[in-house]
Amino acid sequence: MTDSRTNLLGLPMEGMIAFFDALGEKPFRARQVMKWIYARGVDDFESMTDLSKDLRARLAQEAEIRLPEIGAVQDSEDGTVKWFLRTDEHQGIETVYIPEPSRGTLCISSQVGCAMDCSFCATAQQGFNRNLTAAEIVGQVLIAKRMLEPGPDGRRAITNVVLMGMGEPLANYRNVVPALKILIDDFGFELSRRRVTLSTSGIVPWIDKLADDCNVALAVSLHAPHDALRNELVPINRRYPIAKLLDACWRYASAYSSRQVTFEYVMLDGVNDGREHADRLIRLLRNRPAKVNLIPFNPFPGTHYRRSPDDVIDRFRERLLGGGVLATTRRTRGDDIDAACGQLAGRVVDRMRVRLGKKLIGVTVQA
Ligand code: SAH
Repeated sequence: MTDSRTNLLGLPMEGMIAFFDALGEKPFRARQVMKWIYARGVDDFESMTDLSKDLRARLAQEAEIRLPEIGAVQDSEDGTVKWFLRTDEHQGIETVYIPEPSRGTLCISSQVGCAMDCSFCATAQQGFNRNLTAAEIVGQVLIAKRMLEPGPDGRRAITNVVLMGMGEPLANYRNVVPALKILIDDFGFELSRRRVTLSTSGIVPWIDKLADDCNVALAVSLHAPHDALRNELVPINRRYPIAKLLDACWRYASAYSSRQVTFEYVMLDGVNDGREHADRLIRLLRNRPAKVNLIPFNPFPGTHYRRSPDDVIDRFRERLLGGGVLATTRRTRGDDIDAACGQLAGRVVDRMRVRLGKKLIGVTVQA
């Protein structure tokens, strides 16, 4: 039996208003219900006591608030938490919470798998299955928020959200933008747009569109200072090479009153971590609204890459700083539970492999 009820989770304000309008209800109902869902974490209409009994009954018939199903939760020794959320019978995604003294960051996924095929990323090895819905994207935040205790002084557990989990968010633009809108809405998760970061491998046309639709903070996975190397590490570079990508970044920054773009740079031993790489990076980024975030490579089974030694990472950072480019090193967190950058593998049934009929007999794949 198919359920025709509308899932209200993932509807941004304008969608929620349209839903209530179709029921003959005023727009303020949308705001009331969003507050219940996102601020109070309520998922049954019966508890929404400022709605009339009739409306509650009607909502129970016509709508639902359906969260992803929690498959497993793992705690790291350093306080990092990782959720495995089931998205389909045989598949799931991962979400990671990283507590720090002054903030709490939730790293969420945007797709089941990823099709970008970056050579150093565990998610890429899994292949791609499907886009997450907006409900599944914001559902990750809701699930985490419900389970986490507020920080010291009653500070909210989740102060920042980064789209740096599984998937390429700009390849799922249609569902990612409504989710971003809910993250920053006063009736949604009430996060400042500076505390919501979308990380992309660099799909140029969508970067430009994002500037108009929902200009949250932007992070770009650069990883190499010239096209030959970037083609190898981040294959989408063949389509949108570095010069085009950086132009889009500077347009984004200027549309956003010159806020910095963060450039992620994974440190791969002997591949992209030499002085010459640092010097080329300086030439690309000096005097621009840019900062570099060096990410020590996190290994996963089957990879031939190695992490650059700590002293090489330190020297690389100092060279960038000396050349006038802001640079920080991302501390590795949660590696005892495979929750570090690039280690999120979830469970993905690769569509290409299924189509080719390789070894996945018995697996139901959703069309
Ligand atoms: N698709 C988006 C978000 C994905 S991951 C993007 O490409 O930006 C978030 C960051 O982790 C990206 O910068 C990604 O390149 C990086 N990353 C991927 N694999 C990694 C690994 N094994 N070690 C360290 N960082 C990795």
